[in-house]
Amino acid sequence: MHELSLAQRITEIVRESVKDEPLSTVRTISIAVGELANVNAESLMFAFEALVDGTDLQDASLNITSVPVEILCLSCDKLSTLNDFIFQCVHCGSTSTDVCRGRELDVTSIEVDDHT
Ligand SMILES: [Zn+2]
Repeated sequence: MHELSLAQRITEIVRESVKDEPLSTVRTISIAVGELANVNAESLMFAFEALVDGTDLQDASLNITSVPVEILCLSCDKLSTLNDFIFQCVHCGSTSTDVCRGRELDVTSIEVDDHT
């Protein structure tokens, strides 16, 4: 299951970044998911909750933001935001484009509660 390995990766990133603050509790993990990343937010949420249940991250909630797809036109060099998954430049109509955003899955912020 694709989403389970992604959830696993997220928990690894989070644990890595809070390892110097062992007394803090992770509250909110914000992630940005590109619309082309082929991730089902509900499945990811479900996988994450199953994964962290009973662990140090069980109180953390996952906040998923969808990132729109941006394409760069190879003819006129301008950026367009993708509409209805039509890979066409909105400026000149060219269909030779490169995807520059929309495939990523990034942890954008981690909110922790300090017990100290
Ligand atoms: Zn163009």
